[in-house]
Amino acid sequence: MNYNRCGKSGLLLPQISLGLWHNFGSFDDLKNAEQIIVNAFDNGITHFDLANNYGPVPGSAEENFGGIVKRNFQGFMRDQLVISTKAGYKMWDGPYGDWGSRKYLITSLNQSLKRMNLEYVDIFYSHRPDPETPVEETMMALDYAVKSGKALYAGISNYNAEQAQEAIKILKDLGTPSLIHQPKYSMFERSPENGLLDVLEENGVGCIAFSPLAQGLLTSKYLKGIPAGSRASNPNGSLQTTDITEDILQKIQLLNKLAQKRDQTLAQMAIAWLLKDRRITSVLIGASSVAQLYENLKSLEQLTFSEEELQQIESILRG
Ligand code: NDP
Repeated sequence: MNYNRCGKSGLLLPQISLGLWHNFGSFDDLKNAEQIIVNAFDNGITHFDLANNYGPVPGSAEENFGGIVKRNFQGFMRDQLVISTKAGYKMWDGPYGDWGSRKYLITSLNQSLKRMNLEYVDIFYSHRPDPETPVEETMMALDYAVKSGKALYAGISNYNAEQAQEAIKILKDLGTPSLIHQPKYSMFERSPENGLLDVLEENGVGCIAFSPLAQGLLTSKYLKGIPAGSRASNPNGSLQTTDITEDILQKIQLLNKLAQKRDQTLAQMAIAWLLKDRRITSVLIGASSVAQLYENLKSLEQLTFSEEELQQIESILRG
């Protein structure tokens, strides 16, 4: 594993981090979940990304993760881990369990710490901007989380370039610089290239890309239909069969051929493609099995692209 400096901070993050949005909740196989985490750590993945609402049921990923940490990373091993959580999406009913108020962020962080049985998290994020709450209030909540020792660093997620610029300035003025931004970024999701990555670089803020495999689309998984047990096979899931259009399928087939020429799988090429940009601190993958984890880790063996390969990728993506 290689570790990249997160923006202009003192913190190093692994080039690949593991997220617990799926596969670690109440209805998932806990033994499998534990194996994924332990194997990830044994291969240098020190950073694990959570949020209050990950599950389902909401909160269960944090609870399960807390148990896994207790069983496997007792004592000083905690100091080898960078654990993040977030608040910003709906967590509980009533007026205080959603969006960006100080009331929600701080009470949610307290709940997260309890569920994970931790004294502090390493990174606490505002999970999304709140159009109704003054951004100052949301940032003051992050600042308080850090100054009270409940979190070591503050981060933002899903803020566009303009919103990120404002949030970063406020945090800086408060004396708690924004460590990191977490946007959705992959070959299929290019919006961070429209100014956000520049804002982050100019301000010395790191970037961790979520859904780098477009939830599994940028792997060999859907090349021959929709396998049972896959994310797209769940009718209530975050990836729908309707997302797998003819156009997407055609692009995946072509990208897969190009990956093969590079002696990589499509998943490995998709991860490497993000890491070629030095502004990307870490790629935040999900995995439903240890085998997927190992396949994805191998992307680190081939991170460079020729100019011709990059052009071919752009031409495939343009369609
Ligand atoms: P990915 O794009 O990496 O998708 C992960 C899924 O892709 C896996 O669950 C698996 O699906 C499939 N997959 C992964 N590797 C392989 C492989 N080698 N071969 C075949 N299929 C593979 O990321 P996620 O969408 O899961 O997001 C990653 C993390 O990002 C989350 O856990 C979370 O921490 C964070 N995130 C943050 C958000 C935010 O708003 N800040 C929003 C969403 C995610 P299957 O289950 O079908 O096997």
